Amino acid sequence: MDIINIYDNSDKLYYIGGVVRDKLLGVKSFDVDITYVGNAIEYCSKFGEVIQENPDFGTVRVNVGGREVDFASTRSEIYEKKGHLPVVTKIGCSLKEDVMRRDFTVNALAMSVSTGEIVDYTGGQKDLKDKILRVLHDESFIDDPTRIIRALKFRVRFGFDLEEHTRYLQEKYLSDINYDMSYKRVKKELMETFNLNSQRAFEIFIQEGIYKLVSPEKFELPKVNIEELIKKYPVEHTWLVYIGLLPDLLRLEFTKEERKIVEDFRAIGDLKTDFEIYKAFDGLAVESILLYGISKDMNAAIRYLDILRYIKISVTGEDLKALGLKPSPKYQEIFDYILQAKLQNPQMTYEDEISLVKNYKN
Ligand code: ATP
Repeated sequence: MDIINIYDNSDKLYYIGGVVRDKLLGVKSFDVDITYVGNAIEYCSKFGEVIQENPDFGTVRVNVGGREVDFASTRSEIYEKKGHLPVVTKIGCSLKEDVMRRDFTVNALAMSVSTGEIVDYTGGQKDLKDKILRVLHDESFIDDPTRIIRALKFRVRFGFDLEEHTRYLQEKYLSDINYDMSYKRVKKELMETFNLNSQRAFEIFIQEGIYKLVSPEKFELPKVNIEELIKKYPVEHTWLVYIGLLPDLLRLEFTKEERKIVEDFRAIGDLKTDFEIYKAFDGLAVESILLYGISKDMNAAIRYLDILRYIKISVTGEDLKALGLKPSPKYQEIFDYILQAKLQNPQMTYEDEISLVKNYKN
């Protein structure tokens, strides 16, 4: 936090939001948000180091001693369309007005860059001490339901609880959800929350009915501890091993890869033999296999991930050609024939496989 040495001694610069919360909690921040009370673009242009600016939001990126830092103007907003991005009503408002557009009291703290003084308009310091999340007004979840998921994220990340009235407001909203909302933002928050790989987050998500924001159909908590499972079988898209279980995900805009992960596991039916398991899972993302395991047959998933996936046949198309077989769909039949044998006897050598091919041919 060396901004002040590079800029002037402005008493209008404040660290704001998560960075102040994290500082008071003594944990590392993901990013540093700085707000200028007034118009940050005008303020920063004095220094002639502006890299990028967004006048609609009053934000500006500047070069501070070789480091890129984002400055925001204080701004007030209203939610013209509930559940969607708010509309900026004033750039350069008071610090208090800026703070009042935020999600929870613990995220509504500001700290003067020049003096380190904490500005607390909403009782955030006490809530931080008491480890509770409290919204700033009764319409908060109606304005922006992603805050319910953000609360879940902070509950799990910091071990916080919902303040009683905030809990009531959450329940009330979840019993009457307005599905016309920005699912892009919902997805972002879900990813951040479930990439924490927390079984507790998933339990709260199901038990409190937060999942209904994305998937209205009733859903029961699976018996499997997904957190433990992912620790044993790490994946790239951790969040999807949780969220992919929900029955109705059409609202979330999946990428092609994400959609494939979910569609692949859903397309697989009962698997009885090792050969069936192998053929079903071969080439699939581990995420899909875990989703299948959690929702349908864990023994099959574990058997594949622990043992079967390491079994590979050695015979290639070149070998078949050298044995006088013309390339045809029969090649696949032969590979499957060898695979079936090898799954029963993984010790088979290349020579064993070749003699199997010869038998098959004859
Ligand atoms: P993290 O450590 O996860 O980044 P953060 O609190 O810094 O936590 P950001 O998403 O970076 O989270 O948001 C920065 C600040 O912006 C928050 O602390 C909060 O004051 C405000 N904010 C973010 N999202 C919302 C929202 N949906 N509604 C109201 N205020 C929000």
